[in-house]
Amino acid sequence: MIKGTTQLLGVIGYPVKHSMSPIMHNAAIATLGLDYAYLPFPIAPERLKTAIDGFAAVGLTGFNITIPHKQTIMPLLANISDVAQAIGAVNTVWWRDGGWWGTNTDAAGFIAPLQALGRDWGQSSALILGNGGAARAVVAACHQLGCPEILVVGRSAEKLAAFAQSWQTSPLQPPLSVHAWDKLNELLPRVGLVVNSTPVGMAPQVEASPLSAAQVALLPSQAIAYDLIYTPRPTRFLQQADTAGLVTFDGLEMLVQQGAAALEIWTQQPPPVEVMRQSLLDYLA
Ligand code: NAP
Repeated sequence: MIKGTTQLLGVIGYPVKHSMSPIMHNAAIATLGLDYAYLPFPIAPERLKTAIDGFAAVGLTGFNITIPHKQTIMPLLANISDVAQAIGAVNTVWWRDGGWWGTNTDAAGFIAPLQALGRDWGQSSALILGNGGAARAVVAACHQLGCPEILVVGRSAEKLAAFAQSWQTSPLQPPLSVHAWDKLNELLPRVGLVVNSTPVGMAPQVEASPLSAAQVALLPSQAIAYDLIYTPRPTRFLQQADTAGLVTFDGLEMLVQQGAAALEIWTQQPPPVEVMRQSLLDYLA
């Protein structure tokens, strides 16, 4: 029930109508019996500062950020965590000491199902397909896991070089190297984790996979295949990996876990992860 005491959370984006965050956060709020509501806010880029000044004026507790504001909000914040600075994007903001503080929970979201496996990641090299925004969170996460090398594979030499360069001045110093797509067959046999951070395989191109079945077969039998895509479930890439007997994770878990990490920052309570996951599964079904 929304009452005079209800506190406000939300997500800003432009557009924001496709965001599934209100679904999982309101499900969590109801389960915890909290006096909060989580709303979508479509904010045009030129209105960003006005909007967050307004959020301060009305006393929002915090909010999530999606495209196109994840980078442009950074100069408007009073404090930015090291991980968000390293990733170069903020997805979670909260009010503290008279200003907006920001972090990025995508790396924590990505890492959560991997940490639950209890593996010694110090022995597992990670290979990331793609060098866009999501790949940056995956690099930070693999560094946090303790992967001894992080191999980023992309199709543009220029963008790969810029990606590598951008980490040189970052607060994190991941053991990163960049590689052309045609080097994949040499790299795949030595990795313990392979991550698809390209949109290849996303609906409606559901028959596409970033790797051929023959390339998936080059992966060691204990390797983990992780696709950041969550529609379809599973992707063609994860079907191939499953057929090869590999452990697989998809992007839904990352989405749920980044939301859970944000909710914990705002409410200081353990989030009901199972409820958040089920709310999205129900919605997608
Ligand atoms: P992005 O910034 O646009 O980056 C996409 C990357 O994929 C770029 O490096 C791009 O290469 C590469 N790429 C695109 N098409 C390709 C192709 N046909 N072959 C090889 N490489 C290709 O996008 P993003 O924000 O990183 O998102 C990437 C994926 O992750 C999307 O599917 C998105 O839905 C998903 N994602 C999931 C979550 C989650 O919570 N589960 C969070 C964020 C993102 P070029 O630079 O050469 O174009």
